[in-house]
Amino acid sequence: MARFILALDQGTTSSRAILFNDAGKPVSVAQQEFPQHFPRPGWVEHDPLDIWRSQRDTALAVLAQAGASPSDVAAIGITNQRETTVLWDRRTGEPVHNAIVWQCRRTAALCDTIKADGFDATLRAKTGLVTDAYFSGTKVAWLLDNVPGVRARAEAGELAFGTVDTWLLWNLSGGALHITDVTNAGRTLLYNIYTGDWDDEILAYLKIPRGLLPEVRPSSQVYGETVTNPFGTAIPLAGMAGDQQAAMFGQACLKPGMAKNTYGTGSFVLLNTGTEGVPSNSGLLTTIAWQLSGEPVIYALEGSVFIAGAAVQWLRDGLQIINSAPEIESLAASVEGTDGVYFVPAFVGLGAPYWDPYARGTLVGITRGTTRAHIARAALNAIALQSRDVLDAMHADSGISLSALRVDGGAAANNLLMQIQADVLGVPVQRPAVTETTALGAAYLAGLAVGFWPGVEALEAAWSVERTFEPRMSESERAALLEGWRRAIERARDWANGE
Ligand code: ADP
Repeated sequence: MARFILALDQGTTSSRAILFNDAGKPVSVAQQEFPQHFPRPGWVEHDPLDIWRSQRDTALAVLAQAGASPSDVAAIGITNQRETTVLWDRRTGEPVHNAIVWQCRRTAALCDTIKADGFDATLRAKTGLVTDAYFSGTKVAWLLDNVPGVRARAEAGELAFGTVDTWLLWNLSGGALHITDVTNAGRTLLYNIYTGDWDDEILAYLKIPRGLLPEVRPSSQVYGETVTNPFGTAIPLAGMAGDQQAAMFGQACLKPGMAKNTYGTGSFVLLNTGTEGVPSNSGLLTTIAWQLSGEPVIYALEGSVFIAGAAVQWLRDGLQIINSAPEIESLAASVEGTDGVYFVPAFVGLGAPYWDPYARGTLVGITRGTTRAHIARAALNAIALQSRDVLDAMHADSGISLSALRVDGGAAANNLLMQIQADVLGVPVQRPAVTETTALGAAYLAGLAVGFWPGVEALEAAWSVERTFEPRMSESERAALLEGWRRAIERARDWANGE
């Protein structure tokens, strides 16, 4: 009997592998960093072979650590850094260029052209995304236009495009499978998330041949199996989803109205909107949350905040008022409140729901009584208030009122921050026992497809809360805090315009 599900968690700076048992508990973990390439300012690349090799090596390492053999693995699930773009030769498997990473800004000018043409409204209506260099479509167009010989080879059917899920699946299957899942397809800017197909009008506009594109499948399904190398046995390849979507599935946010927030460098809120894709008028993305085999697509609204835990890093490295990130908690707890100080950490502009690239960081309301403790507390408030802004936008777009927020990511370990989040939202904040939610989500998707878990009810039952933070702030206190935050945001906005 196979005892484990192997989750491959391919991230932006490292590849991780985790072996889960049938209780959804991690049994062993392996991680390997790989090189980042910055060929020009604002450009970011990875070598696709580094991605594959580091992922393969961590998969083998995690088995060895657990004393498990490949035949102990019931299925493999993949979750991945989203939007990163790979183009390779179908016959040799050789990439034609480095992968263009989601962070890469090289297609910003192409995005400006799309907006000048007025085509951005079409993209928004069909893909749920905003026209930004972040997404894969313009990256594919760039490769076709800029790498010698690539367009001719693409038109002759010699090449394959994939996001990182597709690239790993191709390699794991020895080149037999050219498949992506709906969540990854939905981040390409080429996929109509409402009709469920690559969009011919968009492909024609960006001059991308359809023959490059992978087949789109549900997030949970047996796609095929591993060829004997590197595992020496055939293991079902059975689940794939982008990282934020996998985290939402791992958090068992399975019903409409359930939301999760991941507090890392930035923070990512996803709200389950059920079988309806809700278009946003508030600067959010409409995205596919997942699709189980034989079931309808589930949609989400997504809001990304650029700076969350990174504000804590700045207090540590920039201001040097703390020595480590966790220290912020005791410092901030040494005062009752901020005494009217607000910190807007708009270091790189503001993301959802403001999308203001010219906003910059501000500290307002400082008096002679202000101490580093007030600033630390204002930083925690800011992380919570930015998430409140995103959830307010989600409410405005969907009419859905949140009943609780499930949390994960490095900064979710901060109890004071979680209490402030509950206070600012006025709803309970729930921190789960297993915080490896991204990998767990990939494991669940794969495990469901092979019957390792009988159904989603089992996942709901397995999700358990480590601690719930109940809101304690009075309505009037909350209203005053939100009003001050609104005014602080106004001070931060548009600051660098005309610099
Ligand atoms: P990422 O995946 O984006 O690298 P992680 O989920 O590993 O992020 O979380 C790391 C971030 O969380 C860092 O920005 C760090 O400053 C912040 N962080 C870690 N521990 C704490 C803490 N106890 N309180 C507040 N922030 C924290």
